[in-house]
Amino acid sequence: MRRIVIVGAGQAGMLLALGLQQHGYEITVVTERDADTIRTGRVLSNQCMFDNALRFERQQGLNFWDDRAPTVDGVAFRAAAGIQWESPLDNPGQSVDQRLKMSDWLTEFADRGGEIRLQRVGPDDLEELAREFELVLVAAGRGPQFAKLFARNDELSPFTEPQRAISLLYLKTTGQEYQGVAFALGPDGEFFHLPLLSVDGVRCGIYFSGIPGGPLDCWDVADAEDFFERAEKALQRHFPWLAPIMADAEPGGPLDFLTGRITPVVRDPVGTLDSGAKVLAMGDTAVTNDPIAGQGANMAAHCAAAYQKTILEQGDKPFDEQFMRLGFQRFWETGQHATRFSNDLLRPPPAHVLATLATAQQVPEVAHRFAQLFNDPTDYTGWLTDEQAAMHYIQEATAR
Ligand SMILES: Cc1cc2nc3c(=O)[nH]c(=O)nc-3n(C[C@H](O)[C@H](O)[C@H](O)COP(=O)(O)OP(=O)(O)OC[C@H]3O[C@@H](n4cnc5c(N)ncnc54)[C@H](O)[C@@H]3O)c2cc1C
Repeated sequence: MRRIVIVGAGQAGMLLALGLQQHGYEITVVTERDADTIRTGRVLSNQCMFDNALRFERQQGLNFWDDRAPTVDGVAFRAAAGIQWESPLDNPGQSVDQRLKMSDWLTEFADRGGEIRLQRVGPDDLEELAREFELVLVAAGRGPQFAKLFARNDELSPFTEPQRAISLLYLKTTGQEYQGVAFALGPDGEFFHLPLLSVDGVRCGIYFSGIPGGPLDCWDVADAEDFFERAEKALQRHFPWLAPIMADAEPGGPLDFLTGRITPVVRDPVGTLDSGAKVLAMGDTAVTNDPIAGQGANMAAHCAAAYQKTILEQGDKPFDEQFMRLGFQRFWETGQHATRFSNDLLRPPPAHVLATLATAQQVPEVAHRFAQLFNDPTDYTGWLTDEQAAMHYIQEATAR
């Protein structure tokens, strides 16, 4: 069987590793942290995944947490300016703490005979891997570590700086809050919360997204308690209608908070090593979006699905550049829309998008269509990217 190596044990890498393993491929995962270290480490993400992405995991029997994870049943939207609506999702989403998911998946992968090498891979190590394996996939997440190898696509990357100060905290709550993604929009940034299954049970993930330099860019925190106090104040000041979720809550564990900034970037997914060998990027290593639209983990799953299909179809033929570009192209059919959706949400909404959000308050069909974008962002392009189409749709939907 063909030998394939995947660098990185995240949503993209592990899903592909386990999927290919089930098709009899001999897979090696090279990653910097073992299952226990991941499980007991710092929180990684809010990782809300929607039905289309979850379906690929379920098809492969990799949905180990369905009986314990709370469902994400809908999307609730409220702008400080007053627009407010709520819509159920056609099928529920789900958020399983990546510390739990990846440590379980790594353990399962090893139990099924997969090889795990613990190593922090640098660009130079890839040469060695390219000599040993027929295909090298780099699924090492976001950040600059492989930026030279996978060139930035300037045309598809409108930002050169982070557009938000992001921060995340898992809370122990009474569970009385909205059981979906509650999204709040204000002049200084955004906030959302959702239920999730964490390492220690069900939690509520709260997420602030502050415009850099503004009052919601305030997450230079010492610990989870400090974060909690600032979050209480920030909610009271910016999104007071959501402040009650803090009332009977307390922070989860001491490592259940995260702060940072992400520069969105689309890269050339094919990298060429000094030897001339080609390596293929996936997940955040290929396309990193700001988490504002909750698309990264979903896209990592879609990327794994597209690459798996392309690898299976390739049979015994070489994993050449043409194969790599075909795999990425298949992913990009969905990925481009998630990227556009995410990037546009970082900019002040144009009048036709505000009009759509306002109409959603009166017309459930519009609210439903907007909510479904999180599951299927392919509907975004040609609708909310097109002022005329958006205004026409508002008229039609209102008349129905
Ligand atoms: C605060 C926050 C909230 C988010 N919320 C959501 C959300 O609600 N919904 C959603 O869909 N997405 C969300 N995302 C995005 C999502 O978490 C990522 O897009 C997704 O995890 C990307 O998966 P990945 O496998 O590409 O990378 P990662 O999950 O980053 O995995 C990379 C793996 O590679 C390993 N690694 C890294 N470097 C090396 C190296 N040099 N050598 C070996 N191993 C290495 C890491 O340890 C890790 O195992 C959020 C992100 C953040 C930060």
